[in-house]
Amino acid sequence: MKILISTDIEGVAGVFHAEQIRAGNGEYERARAWMTAEANAAVQGAIAGGAEEILVNDSHGGFRNLLPDGLDERARLVLGKPRYLGMMGGLEEGCDAVFMIGYHSRSQGRGVLAHTINSFAFARVFINGMELGEAGLYGALAGEMGVPVILATGDDVFIAETTDLFPGAQWVQTKVAHGQGSGVTLSPAASRRAITAAAETAVRNLKKAIPFRIPAPIECRLQTQTSALADLFCMWPTLERVDGVTLRFTTDSMQAAIRTLNSLAAMSFMLR
Ligand SMILES: [Zn+2]
Repeated sequence: MKILISTDIEGVAGVFHAEQIRAGNGEYERARAWMTAEANAAVQGAIAGGAEEILVNDSHGGFRNLLPDGLDERARLVLGKPRYLGMMGGLEEGCDAVFMIGYHSRSQGRGVLAHTINSFAFARVFINGMELGEAGLYGALAGEMGVPVILATGDDVFIAETTDLFPGAQWVQTKVAHGQGSGVTLSPAASRRAITAAAETAVRNLKKAIPFRIPAPIECRLQTQTSALADLFCMWPTLERVDGVTLRFTTDSMQAAIRTLNSLAAMSFMLR
């Protein structure tokens, strides 16, 4: 049995502030160690539950935050970008289930460090009329490949907005959000213990989980943070302008939709 552990940082216990998630300062160096430790806690639980092979995917920012020399040696690490499958990089090897560790709620919500893919570029993302954050988008990408999400961890807002998408999954609430930059967190040690226990249960109950599938065709409706971004994104001829800050496009798969969104996120650096 092979598990992909996709690891973000905003939902990790102890992380509340933008400084902690951006390279170039001491607070980030501490936070990336907590992120690595939560990934290891998930590895430990997965193996206890019967997993034989584990890939850990670094899914934050430039996809190079986890400390390779701090990683449990029973796992291999997926690092760096760009990659076609983004936060699900590694699934191309064929995996039986996904963990989402340290995830966060979607843009415009009231969760800790809430955003969707790129906080500068995207305000809201709707797929076939359903508003989704990163967990929903990438969960649907895994679902399209027949793979269920069986464990997810993050704050209470993230869990509330995501629970219905992954029936049969295990959840660990690492903190309670009071807002974008405040709340109450578990200690990193308590969070790791809870993640290890939930990971073991998740793997043991893998057969009860249902992949999150969104049937094609996929219509993506996207609200940008500014109309200048919408001007830029509509340079791409298959994107259609709906209003000042709203665009839409249709594709035949979630993978194509996510690759398009990640290409737009990369384009947005022109306006930063
Ligand atoms: Zn992130």
